[in-house]
Amino acid sequence: MRIYSGENLEIKFDSALCECVEKAVLNFNFGIGRVQSLLGCSAQEIGKVKASFFTKREEFISYIKTKMAPCDELPPDWATGCFYGGESQILINPADEEDVSRRKYTLLHEAIHLYVQKAIYEKFDVERIVWFDEAIAGFLDKHSEKYTQQEWKNLAIKLKPVAKGFDMNKLNDFSIVKTSEYDGYDMFLLIGKFMIGTNLIKDFLETIKSNPDKIREEGLTILQKAVEYVEHI
Ligand SMILES: [Zn+2]
Repeated sequence: MRIYSGENLEIKFDSALCECVEKAVLNFNFGIGRVQSLLGCSAQEIGKVKASFFTKREEFISYIKTKMAPCDELPPDWATGCFYGGESQILINPADEEDVSRRKYTLLHEAIHLYVQKAIYEKFDVERIVWFDEAIAGFLDKHSEKYTQQEWKNLAIKLKPVAKGFDMNKLNDFSIVKTSEYDGYDMFLLIGKFMIGTNLIKDFLETIKSNPDKIREEGLTILQKAVEYVEHI
C-alpha cells in the first residue's frame, strides 16, 4: 500500500490506483470548502480525513474488520464505499473505467459523512439520521453536477410512484436501502437537491442541533416534497 499525506487528508492506496486517487484528491479539494461553509466548521476542527483505497474485496473486508466496533455489522455485498472506525474504505475495480470515474467522488462523499458526524451528531449528541447526511453527501460530492434539468426530472419521475408516504427514517436500516422497488441513493440525491436548492438546509442544520425529532418528522414527507420541487424546476 502507498500513502498520500496532505494537509487535510491521509490516504492509503493500492499502487494500481494512483491516478484514481489523484482525481479523488482533486475532487475533494474542489468540494470540501462548500461543505465547511455550510456546516460552519473548519478542517482543523474535523481533523485529517483518512481513507483507504482497495482493489480487492477480500482486502477491503479484512481491513474493515480491523476497524469495526463490536456493535457494527459488515457492509452489504453491494457496498464499495464504507465508513468504519472514523475512516473511509473504498473499493475500486481498476479495470472498469466506469467504476474508476464514478469512484473519484467517493472520497469527498465519505468525507462529508465525517464532517456531519463531527460537526453535528457528535457535537450536539444527536443520533445519526441516515437520510439527512446521505442527502447532503449525495448532493455535494459533485457527481451530480453534470445532471441536466431533464435528468433531474427523470429522477423525480422514477421516484414518484413510491414517494407518497415514504418514511425516509426507515432507511436507517441499510439492508433496505436498495430493493427491487427503489434505490435509496436516488432518494437521498433528490432530497439533497431539494434541501440545498431551496436553502431549507440552513434551517434544518439549526433545528437538528436542538430538536432532531423535528428532522425525523420531516423524513415522513420530504421525499414527496423533493419530487414535487424537482418536477417543477
Ligand atoms: Zn453515503
